[in-house]
Amino acid sequence: EFDVLVVGGGPAGAAAAIYAARKGIRTGVVAERFGGQVMDTLAIENFISMTSTEGPKLAAALEEHVKEYEVDVMNLQRAAAVIPHERGFEVKLENGASLKAHSVILATGARWREMNVPGEKEFRGKGVAYCPHCDGPLFKGKRVAVIGGGNSGVEAAIDLAGIVARVTLLEFADTLRADAVLQKKLASLPNVTVITNAQTTEVTGDANVNGLVYTDRVSGESRRIELEGIFVQIGLLPNTDFVKDTVERTRFGEIVVDARGQTSVPGLFAAGDCTTVPFKQIVIAMGEGAKASLAAFDHLIRESVP
Ligand code: FAD
Repeated sequence: EFDVLVVGGGPAGAAAAIYAARKGIRTGVVAERFGGQVMDTLAIENFISMTSTEGPKLAAALEEHVKEYEVDVMNLQRAAAVIPHERGFEVKLENGASLKAHSVILATGARWREMNVPGEKEFRGKGVAYCPHCDGPLFKGKRVAVIGGGNSGVEAAIDLAGIVARVTLLEFADTLRADAVLQKKLASLPNVTVITNAQTTEVTGDANVNGLVYTDRVSGESRRIELEGIFVQIGLLPNTDFVKDTVERTRFGEIVVDARGQTSVPGLFAAGDCTTVPFKQIVIAMGEGAKASLAAFDHLIRESVP
């Protein structure tokens, strides 16, 4: 039986595990894939104190740091359900096994929704990007498209317009869905073009992206835009379906947490990209993981008073 069982082995989960283990309590980590999204990342230039690193390198460093402590790491294991009991929790794994813990920290992250068009996967990291805070500066002075006219797409376009030469925003519907104040700001920028009724059909390139093809949904015509980068902003999907009946989530699937990472269930904490915490970044996920872990420890010392 664990004192703290962390579900997820990304930056948030690793930080939570280290902070718990340093309290000398029984700590476990269940991770479908240790490292999380960091494993899919090439250059990382905004992890403070490291001018630049690469995803797999940072993931290896996370693992090495966790293994410095007595943490039971169960990698390649997927949690299927979290069941609150009188005292503590049962975490059911997809392989049929079941783990018990006094407190649980959910750190299962999120994934970007993909367009699912030819070329997208092939050119991921070679012009196809999902995070303007992370990869925007790589396209300084170049031409980019933003796919998606919701708040995140329009925010991304405004952000990128200050860095790149030209931004083309493509929206599938006939109007943008972003807040009016964002749309007004976007319309004031000289180097941004908005195309509505546009369905992206293909990403093209040689070594790197060199363009995209879309269908004008009004005329049915296929058109091509030459560019160097494509930021896909059609949604972030938190990996939280397995706890949908256990804990309060937003309509986007984010687990609702307070400033201490506490969820709607006492003793159940959450941290990082799977939660309502704004801005999904490595440095933020780590801080949130540490915070949730300290809050879980606080919970345990109160709970175990005889
Ligand atoms: P994740 O990293 O998503 O980790 C989630 C963990 O939970 C994984 O171990 C996963 O396998 C596991 N998991 C999920 N479901 C289950 C389950 N049911 N059972 C068990 N385990 C489960 N951020 C930056 O700060 N700088 C960057 O340059 C940067 N670049 C990025 C580039 C790309 C291509 C991507 C995709 C993201 C990038 N990010 C960047 C964002 C950053 O990677 C995330 O904000 C960060 O990894 C979030 O950490 P996390 O621990 O909350 O979640």
